[in-house]
Amino acid sequence: MDYSEEIRDIYEVVKNNPNKGDTATYIPELADVDPDSFGIHITTIDGDEFGIGDYKHRFSIQSIVKVLTLSLAYKMLGKRIWNRLGVEPSGTAFNSLVQLEADNGIPRNPFINAGALVICDILISKLNNPKADFLAFLKNFSGNPGISYSDTIAKSEKSKGYRNIALCNFIKSFQNIDNDPNEVLNFYFDICSIKMNCNELSRTFLLYANNGRKVSDNTQILTISQSKRIKSVMQTCGFYDESGEFTFKVGLPGKSGVGGGIVAVCPKKYAISIWSPKLNSKGNSYRGMKFLELFTTRTETSIF
Ligand code: GLN
Repeated sequence: MDYSEEIRDIYEVVKNNPNKGDTATYIPELADVDPDSFGIHITTIDGDEFGIGDYKHRFSIQSIVKVLTLSLAYKMLGKRIWNRLGVEPSGTAFNSLVQLEADNGIPRNPFINAGALVICDILISKLNNPKADFLAFLKNFSGNPGISYSDTIAKSEKSKGYRNIALCNFIKSFQNIDNDPNEVLNFYFDICSIKMNCNELSRTFLLYANNGRKVSDNTQILTISQSKRIKSVMQTCGFYDESGEFTFKVGLPGKSGVGGGIVAVCPKKYAISIWSPKLNSKGNSYRGMKFLELFTTRTETSIF
């Protein structure tokens, strides 16, 4: 089943409705994309694939990468990572500082910026050359040797990265960052700058739909338990303070990024990726949310 008919129909419906929201202007380089870009790609466990619109156009995946950095840290350190951060939804914006004070510098989860910075710190302590080693992991994980960082986007974000700089230093004051905050921030801006398209994302995330095994050659990259737990954090925390809404409307584990990308995983069935750069007030793709709501409803593939 390739879902092509459903995708074609819903794509037209969403495209013909007003495209609301704004691109993420706080990262100057992201304001430069065509706000009406719209692409979708699905990859199924059975080997079917279908794409429509701008699904071959690479965009900045931003926070979607946080699922992948979490995966590498989890693979390397196992459950010890949970001493440094939690698995509870934050109910606050992705870049919020407010809870950290009361929580003594332990971020609520790995997908808010605070948690992703702690994961970066863990990886820096563990890898010889974090930037190169993470990319090598990602290329193997995705089976895609063409993925790379965008120095332009990383520089652009760094030039206005005041909140993340504040977050990282604040966590360091609670001794939950071991390395030099500048090094952690540079690595964080690099990982957020990675560019992929919907086709590459849906293929990459299929591993989570397949219980941590690569579909191409059946290698177990994450344990079944790790894959289960990562999906559960995607379900409860993947959309920041809109995670409840995403679960309510779409009902799949997923992850968004301020580049306008969303990936969602339907266990044992498929991974799907949408790109549409205009974001709602919570920083999630307006059309991406809309499309997935209609898609899981029509295909009856919500997990609920
Ligand atoms: N790099 C972005 C930031 O730190 C990632 C946020 C996101 O995609 N939600 O603000």
